[in-house]
Amino acid sequence: MPPTRLPRITLNTGATTPQLGFGVFAMDDEATARAVEAAIAAGYRSIDTAAVYLNERGVGIGIRRSCIPRGELFVTTKLWNTHHLTAGEEARNSLDRLGLDYVDLYLVHWPVSSAGTHLRAWDGLEDVNRSGAARSIGVSNFSREQVEEVIALGGTVPSVNQIELHPLHSQPELRAFHAERGIMTQAWSPLGRGLALGTSEIASIARAHGVTEAQAILRWHLQLGTVPLPKSASADRIRENIDILGFELDAEDMATIDSLCRPSRRRVVLRVGMTASAHPGELLSRGHRLRYVFILGALTALGPFTIDLYLPAFPAVAAALHTSESAVQITLAATTIGLAVGQLVVGPWSDVIGRRRPLTVATLVHVLASLACAFAPNVEALTVFRFLMGAAAAAGGVVSLALVRDLFSGIPMLRMLSRLGMVNGLAPIVAPILGSQLLQWIDWRGIFVVLAAYGAVIALASVIGIRETLPIENRIQSGIRALPGRMGRLLRDRRYLGLALVGGFVWGGEFAYLAGSPFLFQGVYAFSVAQYGLLFSVNALGFVLGTQLGARRAGRLAPQWLLALSTTVLVVSALVICTAAVWGWGLPLVVIPLWFSIMAVGVCIPCVQGLALAPHGAESGLAASLLGAMNFTVAGIVTPLVGVFITGDALGMGAVMLACAVFASAALWWLVRPRSVPALAR
Ligand code: NAP
Repeated sequence: MPPTRLPRITLNTGATTPQLGFGVFAMDDEATARAVEAAIAAGYRSIDTAAVYLNERGVGIGIRRSCIPRGELFVTTKLWNTHHLTAGEEARNSLDRLGLDYVDLYLVHWPVSSAGTHLRAWDGLEDVNRSGAARSIGVSNFSREQVEEVIALGGTVPSVNQIELHPLHSQPELRAFHAERGIMTQAWSPLGRGLALGTSEIASIARAHGVTEAQAILRWHLQLGTVPLPKSASADRIRENIDILGFELDAEDMATIDSLCRPSRRRVVLRVGMTASAHPGELLSRGHRLRYVFILGALTALGPFTIDLYLPAFPAVAAALHTSESAVQITLAATTIGLAVGQLVVGPWSDVIGRRRPLTVATLVHVLASLACAFAPNVEALTVFRFLMGAAAAAGGVVSLALVRDLFSGIPMLRMLSRLGMVNGLAPIVAPILGSQLLQWIDWRGIFVVLAAYGAVIALASVIGIRETLPIENRIQSGIRALPGRMGRLLRDRRYLGLALVGGFVWGGEFAYLAGSPFLFQGVYAFSVAQYGLLFSVNALGFVLGTQLGARRAGRLAPQWLLALSTTVLVVSALVICTAAVWGWGLPLVVIPLWFSIMAVGVCIPCVQGLALAPHGAESGLAASLLGAMNFTVAGIVTPLVGVFITGDALGMGAVMLACAVFASAALWWLVRPRSVPALAR
């Protein structure tokens, strides 16, 4: 089909656009490039993407492969909610990814009205427009009132408002308002993401015209005067969706389709305040937030409890199953491997199907595996069930992080992460103490029954207390085969990789302490078990204090600078420990810097998580799982190193801690580059 046959609409800037565009939501770069190439070959000349779709590169590749002159295309992209205050920088990043000098249309993706930044975003877009990086600018998902607010600023009137619009949600009032103000209405989810295809009225209209239901709906859009942006990954459907000029709907057909709009059926996606704010957590009451803290905290603690609660029972397990302690140690290794594997599977999976289902499935698996452990007939079976317990427990940590990212952004997200960090710090102290107390009353099998009961309570609490936080429209629509590509793309993000390395090395230093301190304090400094326990608890409280200090300071000092400060504390305290060991300065100059070092770890962790997840909202499950995997990898390398460098004083542990702190600082300054990190919204 020759492209010129599609009707064109003139924007208030004088630019024109074809009255049908091609949407690319929820496809990875490779699928996007293929689809864009097919769409251009089929006659589409308008392509709609967004920074948050993470496929602008794919759009650029598809455009270049098509060899179509740039001037014939109309390319749209959008500014994501977390970057409202840095529109200029984000527009340049989008152009880099697209490989273009300008876009034809740049939109504010969502009005984050509770944060009040959408008007400042509009100021930024006007600058982008003046710089020539965007020929026209507009908004998306703005209500009438929000568009009026923008117009009231007295500057540029938006050229476009891109809104959810399909037969089940046809938005007549907003369309009329747009027409009054000369604003073009673009329709996202023009097919209602498939929902609108199933209605009998549309099926009979389509039959009468000898076309498909999708074609009937898209024709309705054309005659309505809106600009639909159908998305398809299938070459056949791409061609089908543009083949809509050979028939016309009569007034009765139009009225029939118009009549399908009913409030109860209208929205494709309407989740916790999604239309008012892309970060629904900001709309939660105090009570609700507290409930989330408890449930997510309990989920985060599932990993440490799964690992630590049964540690004091090792000798009893070995005796009961007639096996050696080293065979029981293997069950611990299996749990750790399960944790690593589990988070790599569950995190990305939750980006595809939402958070609740993986969480429910994983917590139930945890309950069943705990019960299976309680009745394990031999150590081999126990090893397998422990692996399953670890894998299921991993879901708790990784999905909790992703849930926090879905619900919050900016500094509120950081505060929420700090609260979870506090649980993370306390759980390893409480778990072994609880484990040994429980063993006074029940045997090792009973410990697993307790873990099953704990898992069951969390499973129930999350089913009742946690709503789905990842709306269908924000889910990744690619399967398992796209996973390596998704991972590669994330790791090619210099800042994300840098933060993952900072987190990994900071944890690495903490693991050096965990692995080295029993030998150092009990073996070298001759601490009793009780004295060592006290030291361990005081240090863990330092970690907790660090998480809270970081959260409190984050309002005044940006998290990247908190990271700079705390990694410096890590380097300095490790240096003091090493020097004290070399010069024989005595115990206080080992214990005190160690405490500061562990407190600094507590400051670092939520900052790393917050900064790493902030720009990756669409893939926060994957982003959280890779952060976890990096921690496991570095900890896996560091822990045996402490053994290798055992020196009979604090030098071995201190040297490994120093190396980790130096690597963390290097990753921060070389890859993350604090000066270039955009401010997190308040
Ligand atoms: P949509 O275009 O209404 O529906 C896409 C779905 O319908 C896909 O599952 C696609 O499957 C299927 N489909 C496409 N053509 C079909 C046909 N002829 N017959 C049967 N099924 C068909 O929904 P959308 O992707 O949500 O929205 C379209 C575009 O709007 C997006 O790609 C994005 O560019 C934009 N959008 C913007 C916002 C915003 O906030 N501004 C929000 C959402 C979307 P296949 O891929 O398998 O063909």
